[in-house]
Amino acid sequence: MAPSPTGTTSAPPSDARPVRPRYAAAGRKTVWLTFDDGPHPRHTPKVLEVLSAHGVRATFFMIGRNARLYPGIVERVAREGHGIANHSWSHPNLAKLPADRVRAEIRQTETVLSPHMGARRLFRPPYGAHNATVDAVVASLGYRTILWNVDTLDWSRAYQPDRWVDHGLAQIAARPSSLVLAHDIHKTTAAHLDSFLRRIKAIRGATFGKPDALWG
Ligand SMILES: [Zn+2]
Repeated sequence: MAPSPTGTTSAPPSDARPVRPRYAAAGRKTVWLTFDDGPHPRHTPKVLEVLSAHGVRATFFMIGRNARLYPGIVERVAREGHGIANHSWSHPNLAKLPADRVRAEIRQTETVLSPHMGARRLFRPPYGAHNATVDAVVASLGYRTILWNVDTLDWSRAYQPDRWVDHGLAQIAARPSSLVLAHDIHKTTAAHLDSFLRRIKAIRGATFGKPDALWG
């Protein structure tokens, strides 16, 4: 038996050591950034500037009626290498709607976004609200539902102006893989995104996941 660091011989045999999870051994953390509810005429361009400065690509879950109003921003998001995904036309709680209304919300948005979505179609239900009806419609239209596991609460008054940064970082630090929810329609999100990205980069082993890899 090998001596323990204290010089005694009380160390357990090697096969009794706790099993370390693979991600811990690899020391890696993957962070996917997602921005919901845009595009917004002022804040989305600012978010894009910050992402570009950091060389980070994200996925934008857009509301169809906003995308229709700002086609130039949709184009720019695509051109700069970010993912574009469907977040419904008018942001209703889909779990309270019949199947035909759910389908219309998704299809109408698709008419605006489809040139930029490619074959891998991602959908995020507003508020994360879904049920068997919603899931069936989403699947029938060829989409994969993507939720999140890190909620920055950047929309919440309690997390302004930049408390959402700490809130998001604490969750990212605690997970091997983070799918981060933020919103590109808030001035405070755009204003403090640089700080958020710098601090994510400072987390040991953290790397940003490519938008394509979200599809699985
Ligand atoms: Zn939303």
